[in-house]
Formats: sequence, structure tokens, C-alpha cells
Amino acid sequence: MPELPDLEYIRPILCERLQGCRMTGVEVFEPVVVRNLTGMDLSEFSGIISSVTRLGPFLRFSLKPRDRSALNSEDQLEIVMHPMLAGRFRLSGKKQAVTAFRMNFDDFHLDFLDDKKMGKVYLGRTSDLHSIPGFASQGTDILSPSFDWPYFQRIAAKSRKQARVFLMDQKSMSAIGNAYADEVLFEARIHPKTRMNQLDESQLATLFESIRSVIQDGIRTIQEAKPDLEMKYRDHMKVRNKKDQPCIRCGNKIRRANVNGYDSFFCPVCQPDGGKGFIDWTTVSR
Ligand SMILES: [Zn+2]
Repeated sequence: MPELPDLEYIRPILCERLQGCRMTGVEVFEPVVVRNLTGMDLSEFSGIISSVTRLGPFLRFSLKPRDRSALNSEDQLEIVMHPMLAGRFRLSGKKQAVTAFRMNFDDFHLDFLDDKKMGKVYLGRTSDLHSIPGFASQGTDILSPSFDWPYFQRIAAKSRKQARVFLMDQKSMSAIGNAYADEVLFEARIHPKTRMNQLDESQLATLFESIRSVIQDGIRTIQEAKPDLEMKYRDHMKVRNKKDQPCIRCGNKIRRANVNGYDSFFCPVCQPDGGKGFIDWTTVSR
């Protein structure tokens, strides 16, 4: 899935290409992926792209409509994409079986592709944005200046969640997905199932710094690699999807465990469970 570092690479590219351009209309190929929040006819969705912004895992395209009759004075038209697990973006590609939604412009188009049909494209007005699940409740963006050590201490002190579950709670931190949650915990040498209230002050500080460094490194690496827009760039990952491969720090095998319903990858030696009673992966073969 595109996670925050992927979107930080994709958004400026789309912004440069789309901002100021006239969207002539939309096409829906997979109705299950698209939600029209307005009751307006889809043919009314056209206008000039005024901005392309990111909120957590959402990409938001705002449009100045040609016909304002269906809108109040503060409203713009909005197309909000939530790629979830498999959503991808492609400029001016051929229509494929996985093409779910298309934004047409005068001489090009932007496709939203989704192999799993789990992502969502919301069509609405600015005043409809609050009804998009998870949109209005996004917490502090981890790239914003507000995401500082005092803020992190405050949200960590209130939590008894497993560290990996805590990292992925978008209401307090916006937004870390599956892949970067594993990478952050590996960097911080914290077992994914460790409860937040079991971490001492220095571990919390390390976790906070690891979020910043792993996400920033991810953004920088992807920007330097310049992958195709639709590619999921994961070459820099150290534990994610590396089950049974040697840990780059200690050489022991990377393990996979289920944490709250999600696959989590970690090194059982670098990220010890501290005798907390999780399965001892150093003696169990799996
Ligand atoms: Zn290791």
C-alpha cells in the first residue's frame, strides 16, 4: 500500500501535473470502490484542480467547479482517495481490469487502480469531508511540527496498547501503516507486542526518534529512487516481508507474528520480548 513516504513522493508529482488543469469528468469502472457523498450526478464533477493535498493516508484533490449552483459559497468539489492496501495511481495509462476510477483532463488522465478493491474514492463537496470514515479523525501528522516529544510523551502515557498497535492508531499519529510500523520497531529494537506502559523513558525516546528517522529516511530514499508512480518501493525495508531472511544487524532469522490481526515482521534477537511471556522465537522453529 502507499504509506506516508510513498504519498509524500506521489503528491508533489500529481500536484505539479494537475494543479490548474481542467478536469473534464470522471469515469467509474469499479462502483464498489467509489462513494458519491453528494447525491449530485457524476456528470457534474468537473472543474479546475485548485490543490492536491495529503491528510494522513488520504490524497485530496480540490476543484473549482464550472457550475457553482449545487454548492454553497465555501464549498469546492472534492475527490478524496484512500488507497488502503493496494490502491495505486497511474497517469495516462491504458484501462486495465484493475482500473477502478479515472479523472479525465483535456489531454491526459489520472487512474486509480486497485487490485484488491479495498481502497476508496470519495466524491463530495468540502462540507461532506467530515463523513469520510477516518478523514476528520486523523490525529497529528507525524511530519508536522506539532508532532514533538512532549506530544508523543502525552499520547504514549495514556496507552496500554501493544507498541505496533499504538503506532498504527491514526487518531493519535497520522499515519503509520503496516510496513513502516515494522521498520520503526526494528529501528527502536522494540518487540511489536510490547505494551506501551512497559516501555521505560529511554525506550520511549528511542521509539519517538525512530518514527522520525525511519519515515524521513523512507521519504528521502523513495525521492532519490524516483520509482514509477504506481510502484510500491520497498527496497530499503530491513524486516518487512523478510521472513526467514537474516537480520542485517545480528544475522538471526526475521520472524513473522500476528499482532492484532496484522502480520508483523521483526528480529527476535534485536527486538527481545523482555521475558514478557510472548513466544520465544529463538527456540521455536516456524
Ligand atoms: Zn537482529
